[in-house]
Amino acid sequence: MTAVDRPTVSFELFPPRDPHSAPRLWETVRRLEAAEPDFVSVTYGASGSTRRTTRTLVARMLRETSLTPIAHLTCVATSREEIRVVVGEFLDAGVRSFLALRGDPPAPGAGWHAHPEGLRTAAELVTLLRQIEARRCAQSPSQAVRATVHPLSIAVAAFPRGNHGAGSTREEDIQALLDKQAAGANFAITQVFYDAPSYLELVAAARAAGVSIPIVPGIIPTTDPARLVRVAELTGVPVPSELLAALDTADAATRHATGVRRTAQLVEAVLAGGAPGVHLYTFNRHEAALDVLDAAGLLPTTTKELL
Ligand code: FAD
Repeated sequence: MTAVDRPTVSFELFPPRDPHSAPRLWETVRRLEAAEPDFVSVTYGASGSTRRTTRTLVARMLRETSLTPIAHLTCVATSREEIRVVVGEFLDAGVRSFLALRGDPPAPGAGWHAHPEGLRTAAELVTLLRQIEARRCAQSPSQAVRATVHPLSIAVAAFPRGNHGAGSTREEDIQALLDKQAAGANFAITQVFYDAPSYLELVAAARAAGVSIPIVPGIIPTTDPARLVRVAELTGVPVPSELLAALDTADAATRHATGVRRTAQLVEAVLAGGAPGVHLYTFNRHEAALDVLDAAGLLPTTTKELL
């Protein structure tokens, strides 16, 4: 496989919930770094609840690692002006990549209500990000040069079987994806899914509708059934009952091996179907993510020696 053909590998992390979990998270960051990922995305809590911790983690990654972080951003309960401030803070810290999201209501089932002076969709957030960057470049020729060398990159979300959480169908979400692309999004990352056709059919339908940006499949290592059930509650994406049955064993080692093998098969299937790479939802654990990459033949040899 040539360097050009090598699939992208990336991870999602969330900021530490409390100071005690920070050292363990940092150990995970270091282990994931050894896999030489193309980027690592860092989530943003509902209503900006993790604004400071997201920024701290992203800034530390930039300072102390070789990683390219992507900062998630949402529009929940935030005015346009507050978003400008947050984006300014990230840009000042050296962040050049964002994942622009509308976000979910702070409480499940509360319904989505935009802030009276805020944004209504992820596409509007992409537009605002492009405006902020353009204004900074117009204000300073130095910034304009830096922006040429390190262009702003904006990712957005895509949904293989519609966004159950937002109550929208795949067709409605493909229309939203077209809006995000028109606003200046560079690529998309998908919500979790458990079978290759979910992803491949989304890509085919999106291409037929005019979406041309890369769509990276977001994949969760299926080693922890309790976590899969919690993710289903949060996202509305059901876990296949036969997968849960396959993981239903008291033997932790067998469960881990089964989950890794099945996730690696999913990774191989989407790559064979033309996916540009894989984005792994790590839940701040490196073991399963690295084992999946190893089983799918996506780990650099140097990393394998560290496992
Ligand atoms: P949008 O694209 O704005 O879509 C939201 C809803 O509005 C959809 O129903 C869509 O069909 C509809 N819509 C959009 N545009 C229009 C239009 N022009 N007219 C009519 N309807 C429209 N949440 C967090 O809080 N923090 C995170 O860090 C986070 N990270 C995520 C990472 C990934 C990869 C994914 C897939 C999701 C993530 N989420 C996160 C969850 C996400 O915020 C929710 O799924 C949210 O409901 C949808 O966000 P969106 O960016 O797709 O919004």
